[in-house]
Amino acid sequence: MTHKITLIPGDGIGPEVASAARRAVDATGVRIDWEQVELNASVIQKTGQSLPEHVVESLQRTRVGLKGPVTTPIGEGYTSVNVALRKRLELFANVRPVRSLAGVATRFGDAKIDMVIFRENTEDLYSGLENEVVPGVVTGIKVITRAASSRIAEYTFAFAESAGRKKVTAIHKANIMKLADGLFLRCCRETAARHPAIEYQEVIVDNAAMQLVIRPETFDILLMPNLYGDIISDLAAGLVGGLGIVPGANMGEHHAVFEAVHGSAPDIAGKGLANPTAMMMSAVLMLIHLQEHDAARRLQSAIEHTYAAHRHLTHDVGGTATTAEFTDAVIEAIARVG
Ligand code: ATP
Repeated sequence: MTHKITLIPGDGIGPEVASAARRAVDATGVRIDWEQVELNASVIQKTGQSLPEHVVESLQRTRVGLKGPVTTPIGEGYTSVNVALRKRLELFANVRPVRSLAGVATRFGDAKIDMVIFRENTEDLYSGLENEVVPGVVTGIKVITRAASSRIAEYTFAFAESAGRKKVTAIHKANIMKLADGLFLRCCRETAARHPAIEYQEVIVDNAAMQLVIRPETFDILLMPNLYGDIISDLAAGLVGGLGIVPGANMGEHHAVFEAVHGSAPDIAGKGLANPTAMMMSAVLMLIHLQEHDAARRLQSAIEHTYAAHRHLTHDVGGTATTAEFTDAVIEAIARVG
């Protein structure tokens, strides 16, 4: 069967890592008809929309996307394309598996890290509701709803059960945001009660940040609202070797968009320095979603072999290889892993 997939290279290092991931996926032999759509600062300026219709239209048709990062201007300019896309397609669950990768040196030596972060993707302080009340006074509105909180909690517990996981940790700041995070927690507790086989625990976000650094191996599944999820994901990426190796999936009822945790990394764009692992591993998640389990297994194990061999790694993980050299090594390994 041929799968039609929307490929969004994005900008910054996006086109480099997206083309690497596409080559690696094609090398598995799985049949994909890529529909490439452009989404970057110049397209946004030309169309005058932060989420141009041709992008939404393609994803609505194919229902599955592989997306590179798109730059979000800081402190001014258009609203985040990434946030807009997640809201528009109701991609309510952001899922980020964070695992130690043999061959990547980390600050934590032998700690075996294997956690999956579930982040609510559509509300919280990402509502975009900011107001200048009077000059010098600005408010930003944190939106937490029962519907969205219960939906992400249910999705998380269902995943935990189906993946044979043991424990879900809800992360919050309900001691301060008693109503907002309080509601999020209540929804998590109610959901936990419906899934008694999964151990349930709650940790305040600041304590969670410390525990993650001291005892990362004790975490299994993490469940949290949008903003904590953003910050904790980067922290967790740092534990296993950085943003270059952590994949992600944005899941909705009808659509799924797979993308790395990292941003557009303008500091290294166009230099052949970008690590495409995160994007390739996002493609592995996409292949699993497409029920192409054999291709997913082969790509994942080719990546792992390439790291274990330690010869063609990119700069961010201690090597000297370019994006293309690493990609060539993975493609060669795909042929070998069979
Ligand atoms: P955004 O706001 O779009 O999320 P960001 O400012 O959080 O972006 P990134 O673009 O993710 O940051 O980059 C953070 C740092 O990590 C940069 O120094 C960048 O070079 C590095 N980095 C990110 N992704 C990669 C990658 N795939 N390979 C190598 N280095 C990377």
